[in-house]
Amino acid sequence: MKIENSSEYHPALTLAAFPTKGYSFPMKDIVQRDNTILRDHAKPVLISEINSPKIKKVIDDMKIAMHAQKDGVAIAAPQIGESLQIFVISGPLLKKADPDFKGDGSDLVFINPKITKLSRDKAGMEEGCLSVRWLYGKVSRSTRVSLTAYDENGKIVKRGTSGLLAQIFQHECDHLNGILFTDKANEVWEMSAEEIAELQKK
Ligand SMILES: [Zn+2]
Repeated sequence: MKIENSSEYHPALTLAAFPTKGYSFPMKDIVQRDNTILRDHAKPVLISEINSPKIKKVIDDMKIAMHAQKDGVAIAAPQIGESLQIFVISGPLLKKADPDFKGDGSDLVFINPKITKLSRDKAGMEEGCLSVRWLYGKVSRSTRVSLTAYDENGKIVKRGTSGLLAQIFQHECDHLNGILFTDKANEVWEMSAEEIAELQKK
Protein backbone atom coordinates (compact mmCIF):
# COMPACT_ATOMS: atom_id res chain seq x y z
CA MET A 1 0.00 0.00 0.00
CA LYS A 2 1.27 3.39 -0.91
CA ILE A 3 0.00 6.70 0.39
CA GLU A 4 1.25 9.46 -1.81
CA ASN A 5 2.57 12.53 0.01
CA SER A 6 2.08 10.67 3.28
CA SER A 7 4.47 13.09 5.01
CA GLU A 8 1.99 15.83 4.19
CA TYR A 9 -1.03 13.93 5.42
CA HIS A 10 -2.97 16.21 7.77
CA PRO A 11 -6.44 14.74 8.35
CA ALA A 12 -7.52 17.72 10.46
CA LEU A 13 -6.72 20.11 7.66
CA THR A 14 -8.57 17.96 5.16
CA LEU A 15 -11.64 17.88 7.37
CA ALA A 16 -11.41 21.61 8.02
CA ALA A 17 -11.44 22.15 4.29
CA PHE A 18 -14.53 20.01 3.91
CA PRO A 19 -17.55 22.26 3.42
CA THR A 20 -19.88 21.45 6.29
CA LYS A 21 -22.09 24.51 5.90
CA GLY A 22 -25.50 23.60 4.58
CA TYR A 23 -24.59 19.94 4.65
CA SER A 24 -26.98 17.62 6.44
CA PHE A 25 -25.31 14.91 8.49
CA PRO A 26 -26.88 11.47 8.45
CA MET A 27 -29.01 10.30 11.37
CA LYS A 28 -26.58 7.41 11.80
CA ASP A 29 -22.94 8.36 11.55
CA ILE A 30 -20.86 6.35 9.14
CA VAL A 31 -18.10 4.66 11.13
CA GLN A 32 -14.55 5.38 10.04
CA ARG A 33 -11.70 3.02 9.34
CA ASP A 34 -10.17 2.86 12.83
CA ASN A 35 -13.43 1.40 14.21
CA THR A 36 -12.93 -2.34 14.86
CA ILE A 37 -16.48 -3.23 13.75
CA LEU A 38 -15.22 -2.77 10.19
CA ARG A 39 -12.75 -5.62 10.83
CA ASP A 40 -15.28 -8.18 12.07
CA HIS A 41 -16.94 -10.86 9.99
CA ALA A 42 -20.54 -9.63 9.84
CA LYS A 43 -23.21 -12.02 11.13
CA PRO A 44 -25.68 -13.61 8.71
CA VAL A 45 -29.29 -12.46 9.02
CA LEU A 46 -31.71 -15.21 10.07
CA ILE A 47 -34.07 -15.83 7.15
CA SER A 48 -37.02 -15.70 9.56
CA GLU A 49 -35.94 -12.17 10.56
CA ILE A 50 -35.59 -10.62 7.11
CA ASN A 51 -39.07 -9.10 7.36
CA SER A 52 -38.72 -8.12 11.03
CA PRO A 53 -38.98 -4.47 12.15
CA LYS A 54 -35.40 -4.69 13.44
CA ILE A 55 -33.91 -5.59 10.03
CA LYS A 56 -36.20 -3.14 8.21
CA LYS A 57 -34.93 -0.38 10.53
CA VAL A 58 -31.28 -1.33 9.83
CA ILE A 59 -31.95 -1.19 6.06
CA ASP A 60 -33.75 2.17 6.38
CA ASP A 61 -30.89 3.60 8.45
CA MET A 62 -28.39 2.37 5.85
CA LYS A 63 -30.33 4.07 3.05
CA ILE A 64 -30.54 7.34 4.99
CA ALA A 65 -26.81 7.30 5.78
CA MET A 66 -25.91 6.45 2.16
CA HIS A 67 -28.18 9.04 0.55
CA ALA A 68 -26.85 11.75 2.89
CA GLN A 69 -23.49 11.36 1.12
CA LYS A 70 -23.64 12.75 -2.39
CA ASP A 71 -21.03 10.26 -3.61
CA GLY A 72 -22.53 7.32 -1.67
CA VAL A 73 -23.22 4.64 -4.26
CA ALA A 74 -23.35 1.74 -1.76
CA ILE A 75 -23.07 0.95 1.94
CA ALA A 76 -22.61 -2.15 4.09
CA ALA A 77 -24.30 -2.60 7.50
CA PRO A 78 -21.04 -2.55 9.52
CA GLN A 79 -20.51 0.99 8.21
CA ILE A 80 -23.42 2.17 10.37
CA GLY A 81 -22.27 0.04 13.29
CA GLU A 82 -24.43 -3.05 12.62
CA SER A 83 -22.42 -6.24 12.20
CA LEU A 84 -24.89 -7.89 9.82
CA GLN A 85 -24.49 -9.29 6.31
CA ILE A 86 -26.43 -6.63 4.43
CA PHE A 87 -25.43 -4.13 1.79
CA VAL A 88 -27.47 -1.55 -0.11
CA ILE A 89 -26.78 0.07 -3.49
CA SER A 90 -28.20 3.45 -4.48
CA GLY A 91 -30.56 2.96 -7.42
CA PRO A 92 -30.39 6.60 -8.58
CA LEU A 93 -26.56 6.79 -8.45
CA LEU A 94 -26.11 3.42 -10.13
CA LYS A 95 -28.35 4.50 -13.00
CA LYS A 96 -26.48 7.78 -13.31
CA ALA A 97 -23.04 6.14 -13.27
CA ASP A 98 -23.95 3.21 -15.52
CA PRO A 99 -26.47 4.11 -18.26
CA ASP A 100 -26.59 0.44 -19.30
CA PHE A 101 -27.98 -0.56 -15.92
CA LYS A 102 -31.56 -1.66 -16.23
CA GLY A 103 -33.52 -0.82 -13.11
CA ASP A 104 -36.34 1.45 -12.02
CA GLY A 105 -34.01 3.59 -9.91
CA SER A 106 -35.01 2.08 -6.58
CA ASP A 107 -32.29 1.05 -4.13
CA LEU A 108 -31.03 -2.53 -4.28
CA VAL A 109 -30.78 -4.56 -1.06
CA PHE A 110 -28.61 -7.67 -0.68
CA ILE A 111 -28.84 -9.84 2.44
CA ASN A 112 -26.41 -12.70 3.21
CA PRO A 113 -24.69 -12.21 -0.16
CA LYS A 114 -22.31 -14.84 -1.51
CA ILE A 115 -20.07 -14.35 -4.50
CA THR A 116 -20.36 -17.61 -6.40
CA LYS A 117 -18.09 -16.78 -9.35
CA LEU A 118 -15.20 -14.37 -9.89
CA SER A 119 -13.69 -13.99 -13.34
CA ARG A 120 -9.97 -14.66 -13.64
CA ASP A 121 -9.92 -11.59 -15.81
CA LYS A 122 -9.09 -8.59 -13.62
CA ALA A 123 -8.70 -4.86 -14.08
CA GLY A 124 -7.39 -1.99 -11.96
CA MET A 125 -10.43 -0.03 -10.78
CA GLU A 126 -10.48 3.28 -8.91
CA GLU A 127 -12.52 3.38 -5.74
CA GLY A 128 -13.14 5.18 -2.49
CA CYS A 129 -15.20 4.32 0.59
CA LEU A 130 -17.57 6.18 2.89
CA SER A 131 -15.58 4.73 5.82
CA VAL A 132 -12.16 5.68 4.44
CA ARG A 133 -12.45 9.44 4.06
CA TRP A 134 -10.75 10.94 2.09
CA LEU A 135 -8.60 8.36 0.40
CA TYR A 136 -8.95 6.97 -3.07
CA GLY A 137 -7.13 4.04 -4.60
CA LYS A 138 -6.69 1.61 -7.42
CA VAL A 139 -7.74 -1.97 -6.70
CA SER A 140 -7.43 -5.02 -8.91
CA ARG A 141 -10.95 -6.46 -9.23
CA SER A 142 -12.49 -9.27 -11.25
CA THR A 143 -14.28 -7.82 -14.25
CA ARG A 144 -17.25 -10.21 -13.93
CA VAL A 145 -18.88 -11.75 -10.86
CA SER A 146 -21.92 -13.81 -9.95
CA LEU A 147 -23.66 -13.24 -6.65
CA THR A 148 -26.48 -14.93 -4.75
CA ALA A 149 -28.34 -13.16 -1.94
CA TYR A 150 -31.77 -12.49 -0.46
CA ASP A 151 -33.58 -9.25 -1.17
CA GLU A 152 -35.43 -7.28 1.52
CA ASN A 153 -38.54 -9.44 0.99
CA GLY A 154 -36.65 -12.67 1.58
CA LYS A 155 -36.63 -13.61 -2.10
CA ILE A 156 -33.48 -15.25 -3.46
CA VAL A 157 -31.75 -13.15 -6.10
CA LYS A 158 -29.02 -14.40 -8.41
CA ARG A 159 -27.11 -11.91 -10.45
CA GLY A 160 -24.23 -12.15 -12.90
CA THR A 161 -22.75 -8.80 -13.77
CA SER A 162 -19.76 -6.81 -14.99
CA GLY A 163 -18.51 -3.23 -14.84
CA LEU A 164 -19.40 -0.93 -11.96
CA LEU A 165 -21.92 -3.31 -10.39
CA ALA A 166 -19.32 -6.12 -10.31
CA GLN A 167 -16.87 -3.75 -8.64
CA ILE A 168 -19.49 -2.72 -6.04
CA PHE A 169 -20.36 -6.37 -5.27
CA GLN A 170 -16.70 -7.11 -4.53
CA HIS A 171 -16.14 -3.95 -2.45
CA GLU A 172 -19.30 -4.54 -0.36
CA CYS A 173 -18.72 -8.28 0.17
CA ASP A 174 -15.20 -7.39 1.34
CA HIS A 175 -16.79 -5.11 3.97
CA LEU A 176 -18.84 -8.05 5.27
CA ASN A 177 -15.58 -10.00 5.66
CA GLY A 178 -13.78 -7.20 7.52
CA ILE A 179 -11.74 -6.04 4.51
CA LEU A 180 -11.29 -2.43 3.37
CA PHE A 181 -10.21 -1.42 -0.13
CA THR A 182 -7.02 0.08 1.29
CA ASP A 183 -5.94 -3.47 2.30
CA LYS A 184 -5.96 -4.51 -1.36
CA ALA A 185 -5.15 -1.33 -3.24
CA ASN A 186 -1.82 -1.17 -4.99
CA GLU A 187 -1.99 2.59 -5.08
CA VAL A 188 -3.71 4.93 -2.58
CA TRP A 189 -3.84 8.68 -2.61
CA GLU A 190 -5.44 11.42 -0.58
CA MET A 191 -8.04 13.57 -2.27
CA SER A 192 -7.44 17.29 -2.45
CA ALA A 193 -9.83 19.76 -0.79
CA GLU A 194 -10.95 20.77 -4.30
CA GLU A 195 -11.76 17.18 -5.26
CA ILE A 196 -13.72 16.68 -2.03
CA ALA A 197 -15.70 19.87 -2.61
CA GLU A 198 -16.39 18.74 -6.19
CA LEU A 199 -17.75 15.39 -4.96
CA GLN A 200 -20.10 17.14 -2.56
CA LYS A 201 -21.48 19.34 -5.31
CA LYS A 202 -22.79 16.53 -7.50
ZN1 LIG B 1 -16.71 0.89 1.47
